[in-house]
Amino acid sequence: MKRCVVTGGAGFIGSHVAAALLQEGVEVLVIDNLFTGTELNFAAAAAVAPQKISLLRADIRESEARQAIAEFKPEGIFHLAAQMNVRASVQDPIFDASSNVLGTINMLEALSEAGGKFFATSSTGGAIYGEQSYFPADEEHPVHAECPYGVSKRCAEHYIEYFSRAKNFRGVALRFANVYGPRQNPKGEAGVVAIFSERILRGAELVINGTGEQTRDFVYVEDVVRACLLSVRDRTPKFLTYNVGTGRETSLNQLVSGMRVAWNDIRTPSDPEFSAVRNGPAMPGEQFRSVIAIDKINRELQWVPAISLEEGLRRTINSFR
Ligand code: NAD
Repeated sequence: MKRCVVTGGAGFIGSHVAAALLQEGVEVLVIDNLFTGTELNFAAAAAVAPQKISLLRADIRESEARQAIAEFKPEGIFHLAAQMNVRASVQDPIFDASSNVLGTINMLEALSEAGGKFFATSSTGGAIYGEQSYFPADEEHPVHAECPYGVSKRCAEHYIEYFSRAKNFRGVALRFANVYGPRQNPKGEAGVVAIFSERILRGAELVINGTGEQTRDFVYVEDVVRACLLSVRDRTPKFLTYNVGTGRETSLNQLVSGMRVAWNDIRTPSDPEFSAVRNGPAMPGEQFRSVIAIDKINRELQWVPAISLEEGLRRTINSFR
């Protein structure tokens, strides 16, 4: 691969994808409007090979972004830019759909015009499957989106399926579980590991919404990036969906225990004691259990997550220092 576009490359996951591509010698064009992304994230990625990456500060819905892709002529696009705030999607579904559906279509059109060979996007396991009818949810699990964000992500998948068939390129929808790791925004509404890491380092109290028995599937960002790159190694034109998680269900109470162990492993004498933990009110409408099956990606791409939760938590807390 010689040239690639990463939308959302100034965000959490996108900046890691950009860095991994640079490591493989690929030239990268990042398109990001810095809505939730930052120049700091971009700089962290760019540090790998500053001369091989550039940032276009533009919205994925704009013609400027499309024009830049036409000129750059990438082999493919890793499309990670999105409105991903669930509550914002409920309050303003039009804004959500305009970013996640119309923005995706604009990027698909750009790829077709540039004659690119693949389009890999970040979809979502949790928000698409909704409250699951079996555990873990495989890719055939009924779609039961409980928020506009889940609907817009699913709708984007349909467009990718259509375009990959009509324009003869490889389209991949990677349905991520709960991704965590360095550079995740601790001020976002999700990202509980980032939020707790930042508070642990300050010695601030951790507040668990509800009983803490709700579960999630936590996958480390480096494993997610590897899945993204692997998914387009074969360029056979077709549409594929893959869950990207661990298949392991972890309750928030277990997560906090894991973070306590991780903190005690890495803590120095000048660091605060592990934070006090308390239970706050439950979040209305919050999904109770979420865990996705990874047999398909394991079978077809030989991908398995390599970083244990214990190791991932140590690395993540350390990165917030
Ligand atoms: P993030 O907010 O850090 O990254 C998103 C990036 O997209 C930001 O840099 C933001 O500035 C940019 N962006 C948003 N709207 C844009 C627009 N209209 N035009 C140009 N740039 C725009 O979030 P993230 O956690 O890195 O998520 C990346 C992708 O992965 C998203 O598509 C998200 O839906 C998906 N995802 C994330 C998780 C997770 O656990 N973090 C889980 C499932 C799916």
